[in-house]
Amino acid sequence: MSIKKITKQAFANFIDNLIKTATVYGVQPKGERFDFAPLASAKDLRLDYDVTLLPPKRFFQPTTETLLTFDGEGRYKSNFDNENFILLGVHPYDMVAINQMDKIFSKDYYDEHYMKRRNNATIIACDVLTPSENVFAASMGMATVSEGFDILLTDIGDGYVAEAGTEKGNALLAKAETTDANEKDLEKRQKLQQDNQKNLNKHKLKCKPSDIPNLLERAYKHPVWEEKAKTCFSCGSCNTVCPTCYCFNVQDSFNWDLKSGKRQRTWDGCLLDGFTKVAGEHEFRSNRADRFRHRFYRKGKYVPEKLNGQISCVGCGRCVGACLPDIANPVKVFNRLVDDLGLL
Ligand code: SF4
Ligand code: SF4
Repeated sequence: MSIKKITKQAFANFIDNLIKTATVYGVQPKGERFDFAPLASAKDLRLDYDVTLLPPKRFFQPTTETLLTFDGEGRYKSNFDNENFILLGVHPYDMVAINQMDKIFSKDYYDEHYMKRRNNATIIACDVLTPSENVFAASMGMATVSEGFDILLTDIGDGYVAEAGTEKGNALLAKAETTDANEKDLEKRQKLQQDNQKNLNKHKLKCKPSDIPNLLERAYKHPVWEEKAKTCFSCGSCNTVCPTCYCFNVQDSFNWDLKSGKRQRTWDGCLLDGFTKVAGEHEFRSNRADRFRHRFYRKGKYVPEKLNGQISCVGCGRCVGACLPDIANPVKVFNRLVDDLGLL
């Protein structure tokens, strides 16, 4: 795959031309924060952002989506999004999260709705220029990324190094005015990436990510779950802002004829009361501390068991900022367990 250099002006021209022919969602200011939104002009794009309010997962798993419609006579029609789109400005930790979700949604059960959107997407990722106040991706080994993106951009001052990661990215990059990246350009990129591997670390984990499953193995009855959960509002914000939380609820709703209708799925979250409620009003995780504990076990044990040990917290830090009582920070919880239980 090609590694090119593109000047800032050539990049702006490239994006403005792309917008004419494709739907592009790029990172833009939203008040004092940033988020992905339809891009109307290259000048609105902010690749120097710190962190987006919501992760890009909603482009693949919308907050609410109609899976199918039914006519009440035994016929149904599946509903798929067919639009191609470009996602511009995905940070490495969010790219890692998308790579994890791709496995989750295609491994045991191939989720056609998620995978259709994923295959329709072209992802242009970018290395972090401005660390957010709570990022700890470096502690999780996810401050940089080497796969999943179609193009990876690194700002080297007088332009970008643009690496194509797929044939799709190669073809897209061929539309831009570029030169081959030289040794000096690549050295600047390497320096920025090495710095990020150290500096995206506002909360420092006291162990290796690979120690976490074993730590949790011994922590099921630890008092930290009850202690922290005492102030938990069960608001689910830590789930909503997390790029690796993907739980959903599926519900049918009927039209006025009480026969036809639609089946929809919406985001759900394991911290919410009622998340585990099943038929007959049975709820197998009604205790707040159990729900609080479950989130950490899911990030640090259950999902890694499915993903060859990869921890499903990428260190974006969004939950840290979103949690009003300040109890959601995974680093604080894991460090407490390291202090109390030690490492084996
Ligand atoms: S648990 Fe928190 S820090 Fe980790 S990926 Fe989710 S939102 Fe980001
Ligand atoms: S841990 Fe914090 S963000 Fe998560 S549900 Fe509890 S109060 Fe809300």
